[in-house]
Amino acid sequence: MTVKTIEEQYTSGVYVKRDRTIVRGRGARVWDEAGREYVDCVAGIGVANAGHCHPAIAEAIAEQAETLLSCPELFYNDRRARLLERLAEVTPGDVDRFFLCNSGTEAVEGALKFARLATGRSKVVAAMRGYHGRTLGALSATYDKKYRRPFVPLVPGFTHVPFDNVERAEKAVDEETAAVLVEIVQGEGGVRPGSPAYFQALRRLCDERGALLIIDEVQTGFGRTGRWFACEHVGVTPDLLCMGKAMAGGVPMGATGIGRRVTGIGPGAHSSTFGGNPLACAAALAALDVYEQEALPARAAEMGARFRRRLEAIDSRLIREVRGLGLMMGIELRIRAMPIVEALMEEGVLALTAGSTVLRLLPPLIIEWEDLERGAEAIEEVLASHEH
Ligand code: PMP
Repeated sequence: MTVKTIEEQYTSGVYVKRDRTIVRGRGARVWDEAGREYVDCVAGIGVANAGHCHPAIAEAIAEQAETLLSCPELFYNDRRARLLERLAEVTPGDVDRFFLCNSGTEAVEGALKFARLATGRSKVVAAMRGYHGRTLGALSATYDKKYRRPFVPLVPGFTHVPFDNVERAEKAVDEETAAVLVEIVQGEGGVRPGSPAYFQALRRLCDERGALLIIDEVQTGFGRTGRWFACEHVGVTPDLLCMGKAMAGGVPMGATGIGRRVTGIGPGAHSSTFGGNPLACAAALAALDVYEQEALPARAAEMGARFRRRLEAIDSRLIREVRGLGLMMGIELRIRAMPIVEALMEEGVLALTAGSTVLRLLPPLIIEWEDLERGAEAIEEVLASHEH
């Protein structure tokens, strides 16, 4: 039996898979079982910001594996303490406490629960095309009906308003609203950055009406958009900050960052067996060091701007728009994006979709220009061959 047939037989079946078995990665490249090399613009869906198998992260993981793997938050731990301190340094505004968990959706769940505790209210205003995860609370905030419909009834009290529309947000946020939950650049919803004025208006609205602002930076965090956190681009700080993906350099980890206004979180309010485990903490510490020492947020800004110009220069009538921030890029097509992703794979480039017509690229932030150029050339060729 091949790897593929074994997976097909025993997997849950919730994923649509591409016909490749990836077995190894290094930097911005991965290899399949036949030894074929790919430029990786998937990066674990925006996880491998430092590239695959960064030696400093690999070493920290190996060392921690031989020191202590399990240590729940019933006890204190040296790696965890250091990570909490580092997180407080890199996160925006007055976010200086953290609930550590294991994924993005859990980071959102934590934020939703803490917002209820702090405000004594239960309503949440989220955005159309927003994506926040698939557990039942986060799913209630996720917009796409094809994800939500099979699971109704979901958590009550969630409404969705058009993204980047101040007027509609003003009508939706009231004295019963616990929180407004948004992404700065909508990722799964099509790589759509919102405007600074929109987020500043949301901040004001929340302050006026006693609601909390939850910013979901699971996809945009840790340098992806050219800043440590995308909210720095728009001059707005959150009360609750959701993190995941690139946080621990590839090891599963998420966190809910908590600002000073968020009160009422006491013993027993929430918990996670694996939350804050020393392995993930050691990996995250090493990842944060790499992001800082290799100045990856600034690199994402520079490489992203250059890559964007290169993509905008592609002369194809199939391209409607190139959007994004830093190394979070979306190409809105006039055709379905999945066949393009499949064709790019044949050309040795791994890419993502975001919705049905957006080609999404989330390369590691350490990627060299020659690999981005290889990606752009492949996109150019594949689009040319799909014009007819
Ligand atoms: N929020 C955002 C903005 C995301 O992009 C994602 C994942 N794509 C999530 C939450 C959920 O993260 P996870 O898949 O780790 O649960």
